[in-house]
Amino acid sequence: MRFRSIGVRLTLWYSGLLGCTFFVLAAIGYSLLSVSLAREMDSALEGVAEVLVRTVREDDRSFFPDDVDELFRRFFGFSPLDRRVELFDPLGRREDMQNRDERSLEMPLSEAARQAAADGRPLFETLQSPAERYPIRVLTMPVLERGRLVHLVRVAMSLENSVAAKRRFLTVMAAIFPVALLLAGGGGWLVARRALRPVDKMTRTARKISAERLDRRLAESGSGDELDRLANTLNEMLGRLDESVSQMRRFSADASHELQTPLTIIKGEFEVALRRPRERPEYEAVLRSGLEEIDRLNHLVEGLLLLARADAGVLATDFQQNDIGVLAAKVVEQLTTMAATRRISLTLASAAPVVVDGDGEHLYRALMNLVDNGIKYTPEGGSVQVRIDDGADEVRIAVIDTGIGISTQEQERIFHRFHRSDQTRTKNAHGVGLGLSIVQSIAAAHGGRLEVKSEPGRGSTFCLILPKKV
Ligand code: ADP
Repeated sequence: MRFRSIGVRLTLWYSGLLGCTFFVLAAIGYSLLSVSLAREMDSALEGVAEVLVRTVREDDRSFFPDDVDELFRRFFGFSPLDRRVELFDPLGRREDMQNRDERSLEMPLSEAARQAAADGRPLFETLQSPAERYPIRVLTMPVLERGRLVHLVRVAMSLENSVAAKRRFLTVMAAIFPVALLLAGGGGWLVARRALRPVDKMTRTARKISAERLDRRLAESGSGDELDRLANTLNEMLGRLDESVSQMRRFSADASHELQTPLTIIKGEFEVALRRPRERPEYEAVLRSGLEEIDRLNHLVEGLLLLARADAGVLATDFQQNDIGVLAAKVVEQLTTMAATRRISLTLASAAPVVVDGDGEHLYRALMNLVDNGIKYTPEGGSVQVRIDDGADEVRIAVIDTGIGISTQEQERIFHRFHRSDQTRTKNAHGVGLGLSIVQSIAAAHGGRLEVKSEPGRGSTFCLILPKKV
């Protein structure tokens, strides 16, 4: 059976462990009690027997003294009623005693006791007499004279007291056990409930958190215990989720906005053109402008698709050996006219072939974005230089411009999707703010990274760093 409540499970474990501990302790206590009772009785019997042996040896037939009671009191601390002292001859026949009123054991001397006495050894036995209810502890001790066995002294006592003491111990334990178990179970249940109360609270709060209410947080007690750390970790996770959901929402809103702008322009231009009949060159101009907007749309959708693939981790699947020098030369050639019209010198340093593993198309696009940005954000008369440094493990492709530069605060934001600095927004109508995100995603897909160093008014250096082997 599986219990769904940790509280119940903890209580059961707790009670079970306590029950086991109690049981083991009771068993140990019982054994210690038994051993010590047996030892005490044996040593007392031995004491009495030794004195009796001495008396027999000295007075011979004057066995036994009147003060047997006194003797038992000395060794047992009390004189029990069921004590027995007997005298036997070496053949095991009961001998007469002076003290006639002494009770004797209704049992003959055992063979083992006689044998031990013949060897000069005392022998302890626990016997069950048919006439008695409780077992009897018996000590048979030889009386030797000059090494010869002359008598045997038998001292016996009922184990009634020991049995009763052990039974009392067991009764007390049996009475305590359920009470202790009940107290432990109840206490354990209360402690577990108290300890787990914050978990219930967390569960209730967590149930109320949805995508629309990601700003809610779990209550932290501030105690620093395990539950507090759990609440803290969950809150941190909620914070990250909240941030990425907000980012996604911003991204969708920005994307829709950017897609809508060219469509609105095309629609407006077409509507105006259709208001009255026009000459062919006028229609052509409208169509050309519409095509430009469609190109923009196309570029934007391509960028969005690339980012979506990068997010899904399926970008750049076609890895081949690419000469970065050749790719950079193609980009420079492609953008030379654009740079020339803006009177910007565009140059490429390093002609030696530098080969990296990667997707040629994506790498071309990344370089294109960086160089295009360099030209876009550099005033007339400036320069853009592409420099390739071939390292041992990685290749650094730096695009260095003498443009408007980027402030330190801006440098953190330029990699966000759709982010464009206010300065560039006003100066440059083209670009939607996806270029650097795309370069970054391409770099990441190749196991590389994109770094920026810039100083406002002096220029920027964007460095695409790629490992030579992925
Ligand atoms: P955009 O399409 O606006 O160029 P990017 O993601 O390529 O989008 O760039 C984001 C922003 O980073 C730009 O709007 C611009 O403010 C800044 N930026 C990028 N490259 C440069 C550069 N070479 N010099 C100065 N600012 C730059």
